[in-house]
Amino acid sequence: MPKYFFDPRQIEGDTVTIDGSTAHHILHVLRKTTGDNVTLCDSAGTDYTATINATKKAQITFALVDARPCKTEPSTHIVLYQSLPKGDKMELIIQKCVELGVYKVVPVMASNCVARIKDSVKKAERYQAIAESAAGQSMRGIVPLVSPPMTLEEAAKQMDTGGQTLVAHEQEQCLSLVDALTPAKTINIWIGPEGGFTTQEISTLKAHGATPVSLGPRILRTETAAIASVSLISQIGSANI
Ligand code: SAH
Repeated sequence: MPKYFFDPRQIEGDTVTIDGSTAHHILHVLRKTTGDNVTLCDSAGTDYTATINATKKAQITFALVDARPCKTEPSTHIVLYQSLPKGDKMELIIQKCVELGVYKVVPVMASNCVARIKDSVKKAERYQAIAESAAGQSMRGIVPLVSPPMTLEEAAKQMDTGGQTLVAHEQEQCLSLVDALTPAKTINIWIGPEGGFTTQEISTLKAHGATPVSLGPRILRTETAAIASVSLISQIGSANI
């Protein structure tokens, strides 16, 4: 059974009231009723066993009966700077990378991006809903933030450069992502669009402290490169370095 997230500001004493699509799902899809338990998470690393106390049409009041730290969060914050891919591939990337432990996703409009976002507010809401659903399904302790799309320069400027920054670059032949990883609280990983990063963009990212890394001798599709990179960093970066 998935877990559901709430805003810690919704807690009153040892109860919390939830409405909207989460309440609808619990009542009408899972068909839970008064007295049943579900797992709730405060989006900040604490899980609760919660008993349904009372229900209204689309509103549930829970008694929080047990609090415990959520143990599924990686110790490294992996921030994925993903160049916007064609079609709905961004949705796949967000879903899979949230399952794999990404901390934040920044959609990047790089020079060679073919995709153009028409309604960026609506798109951002859809991306965030996908992140929340994937976080609930994979038992995360937070809902990773998907930021609004930004240009490569904007994204590079707002990047936290206190940790390590890597850019997956198919022309890098010596240094693999695995060999490049060093212990860091935050690891930023940049993935190019279908047409790749331009030489100028690689220079810009290097000027912001990025190290170009290889994902092997084969050219991967942008979505494969993203999922493979986040998987490697979450397995190796958090555990062994
Ligand atoms: N421009 C290239 C392919 C781009 S692949 C071409 O058309 O030949 C899309 C993105 O995935 C790249 O920008 C890079 O970030 C990443 N990528 C794909 N294969 C890679 C590899 N073997 N090593 C490192 N990064 C890779």
